[in-house]
Amino acid sequence: MTTQAKHIPFVDLRAQQDRLRDSIEKRIAKVLEHGQYVMGPEVAELEGRLASYVGTEHCITCSSGTDALLMVLMAYNVGPGDAIFTTTFTFIATAEVIALLGATPVFVDIDPQTYNIDPQKLQEAIGRVRSQHGSLRPEGVIAVDLFGQPADYDSIHSIAREYRLFVIEDAAQSFGALYKGRRAGKLGDVGATSFFPAKPLGCYGDGGAIFCDDDDIAEILRSLRIHGKGHDKYDNVRIGVNGRLDTIQAAILLSKLEVFDEELQWRNGIAANYSTCLKHVVGTPHVKADRTSAWAQYSIVTEKRDQVMRELKEVGIPSFIYYSKPLHLQEVCKSRGYSKGDFPITEKLCGSILSLPMHPYLTKEDQEFIISSISPLHEKM
Ligand SMILES: *Cc1c(COP(=O)(O)O)cnc(C)c1O
Repeated sequence: MTTQAKHIPFVDLRAQQDRLRDSIEKRIAKVLEHGQYVMGPEVAELEGRLASYVGTEHCITCSSGTDALLMVLMAYNVGPGDAIFTTTFTFIATAEVIALLGATPVFVDIDPQTYNIDPQKLQEAIGRVRSQHGSLRPEGVIAVDLFGQPADYDSIHSIAREYRLFVIEDAAQSFGALYKGRRAGKLGDVGATSFFPAKPLGCYGDGGAIFCDDDDIAEILRSLRIHGKGHDKYDNVRIGVNGRLDTIQAAILLSKLEVFDEELQWRNGIAANYSTCLKHVVGTPHVKADRTSAWAQYSIVTEKRDQVMRELKEVGIPSFIYYSKPLHLQEVCKSRGYSKGDFPITEKLCGSILSLPMHPYLTKEDQEFIISSISPLHEKM
């Protein structure tokens, strides 16, 4: 390629910071002044804002997206002998928390269009576990809104009702997305999200939140978050964790929330532009008509992935593979009895998926540069 190399960030946190710097510094200064670094007033303020944004009765902020999932499973008393069904095409955290509690992650293949858990295959997996006569009890489902697009919750809930399973929404990548007019976070019985810096709504460190309408579960979660507290931290009624969100992170999120809807619109505009220009040369994301994506990732599919990655790198465009290895084939799952060929849709996708730079501040010029660096590679072939 003859084009001059650039240095395009995959996720540009600096551009957002330049925009919000005054507001963030003011809010941090306020925290330094009052000094309530743990469970300070910003935490309660943020929880109120987030609950009304998502439309749930309760928001319980916490230390990370992983801890959010862990605490929800703990609230449901998940433990050894329980089968929790989830997708094999996700970040390890989704399944790790199941195993951490001694329960068994039961993997399910994905829908080839949305990359989310396939409800039909979920039903089959539940049937298989039930036919093993009590070696495992089906207890719940963790559906993941991969790359920002909500899973098929109507189908998932109807299956879950049939077998009396709880549904947890892993909304780590989908905060802000909509499914039939409802926000991600509100789509399961309980929703969990992450504020890791690179997520659609990110803080400057680790953070997460849990959303639910059920008062009893919310109370258990607030207890779990502070060492299983009862009346106070020194009255302990259950095994919990140290799972709080720092006040400073809450302050940062309050600033970022002010521009979040506009950022979502920008992400959507960028995704639309990518898709219009790339849909004839590579596989582009398919977002179903009844939902929107928060575009945590914009991922293309190409059989020439290695070449595309290499040539993009040469001109200064980063790209990443989410995910190159499905969970059932990870070393950590070796003893669980899965093998290659178990989940063919996911396994095939792992060989051809590639995520492009995506953040609200990606300029038109950079979008064009990325698009024009990918297109010729395919048109020549
Ligand atoms: C990022 C992520 C998590 C974990 O969130 P952390 O805040 O990093 O702990 C869980 N599930 C999915 C799908 C994620 O992308």
